[in-house]
Amino acid sequence: MVQKKRNRSIDEKIWKQLSVTAWKFSKNARVLGKTKVGCAVLSGKEIFGGCNIEHKLRSHDIHSEISAISSMVSAECKKLDAILVVSQRDKFTPCGGCLDWIFEFGGSTCQVGYQTKKDGKITKFTAKELMPHYPN
Ligand SMILES: [Zn+2]
Repeated sequence: MVQKKRNRSIDEKIWKQLSVTAWKFSKNARVLGKTKVGCAVLSGKEIFGGCNIEHKLRSHDIHSEISAISSMVSAECKKLDAILVVSQRDKFTPCGGCLDWIFEFGGSTCQVGYQTKKDGKITKFTAKELMPHYPN
């Protein structure tokens, strides 16, 4: 059996920092529906946060992942090492559009996590595990 190649260099202390940032930013979400979503991205040693920003014309909605990645890129950081999305939902992963951006800056080994409550378990994947046939 071939072992899946995973980037295990991100330790739990960093995931905790991402969690604190993501939940903090989720409070700033601008929602027209019910779900506030927060996000934090790791680029080297830098962490950037984001939240969902919903528009009355729903096609303009900005997902929290895009919000956080936009902040990262705006600060001249172009390498996405990990991304954590938080929301009080049962189970979720980034949508296909957000995964396009995750692959763009983080590649197939980018760590992608979600957390459904503060201090709860962080479920982690690689981008490749979420979209195994992505042309990367
Ligand atoms: Zn999305």
